[in-house]
Amino acid sequence: MTLRNASLRSPLRLLAAASAFVALAVAAPVPSAQSQEMQWEDYAPRSTLVVEGREVTRAKFPFVDAHAHQWRIGDASAEDIAAIVAEMDALNMAVMVNLSGGSGEDLQRKVANTERHAPGRFVHYANIDFGPVDDPDFGEKAAAQLEADVRHGAKGLKIYKNFGMDIFYENGERVHTDDPKLDAIWQKAGELGIPVLIHTADPASFWEPQDRFNERWFELKERPRRKRDPVPSWETLMAEHWNLIARHENTIFLSAHLGWLGNDLGRLGSLLDKMPNMYTELGAVVAELGRQPRAAKAFLTKYQDRVLMGKDSWEPSEYHVYFRIFETANEYFPYYRKRHAFWSMYGMDLPDETLRKIYYKNALEIIPGLDPALFPDS
Ligand SMILES: [Zn+2]
Repeated sequence: MTLRNASLRSPLRLLAAASAFVALAVAAPVPSAQSQEMQWEDYAPRSTLVVEGREVTRAKFPFVDAHAHQWRIGDASAEDIAAIVAEMDALNMAVMVNLSGGSGEDLQRKVANTERHAPGRFVHYANIDFGPVDDPDFGEKAAAQLEADVRHGAKGLKIYKNFGMDIFYENGERVHTDDPKLDAIWQKAGELGIPVLIHTADPASFWEPQDRFNERWFELKERPRRKRDPVPSWETLMAEHWNLIARHENTIFLSAHLGWLGNDLGRLGSLLDKMPNMYTELGAVVAELGRQPRAAKAFLTKYQDRVLMGKDSWEPSEYHVYFRIFETANEYFPYYRKRHAFWSMYGMDLPDETLRKIYYKNALEIIPGLDPALFPDS
């Protein structure tokens, strides 16, 4: 035993060391009550990482937003529409697909108003009123209405997520997405050559316990009504969705929001392999790609003919994050909505040809009547 060790072990020395520690602790800045009690939700650290990077405020190529909503555009004034078009121009958005076209007169008013004030710049998808679903001829009648809507300018059909989840027959049975009673609708869409953009279910985490392990815990806290009962399960609902697509191979389906498989691109890829009429889009799920830039780039390279640009909510500045993920190799930059992603983004640096396909070429393939002149490089 050395003398030094012995001296450290002496009770007197230990006491002295402890008092020095206490003195230091008192001298250090006292954390404020606020900083100690801050909730996780408020935590928004500014990254100290210094790396090269740039914001991208305008897409490199003109693009089609295949997933947008403009519910009230039928009543918008010339000035309102001009303001939206100016924002679209700044982003290099050539065409906005309004999935909330409605049906009948409502749809006709939207088509007429946008064609009058901004010809070619807006496309409207029809929607179906599932109210009369108990009518024995509901499928045929809805198909006839869809045909009329397409005659009046609809370029696609959008199905909202209430279908398959929250629409019930009078007898209390849930209307399944692949219910054969509705086959006439999907068949008609195929005959008319229009795509069906269908949103089924939601992120699978909404079916999981809202505990500390749930990746969407914060979203469920902000939007508690998104929590789903475990039955019917996410797997059940999505199996009906995939079965619908598989059963109607002459109809093009866009499985909305990467089919809620942005976190499992391998599984999404095998579905795309199995069903050549299945396409998908990126609305509200780009943060899934931005956290796995290498896997996502490989996925988008392999399936570059099957994925369309889409955004969902109309907030022009948020598109900048999409462009940056697609077009740059930037590292660890912020996303715009914490409830989707509390992680940072990485760019994929996609090659031009892949970008062009996702931005507009795939849309030109599957959405009828887009004006190719809006895409000068096509
Ligand atoms: Zn949407």
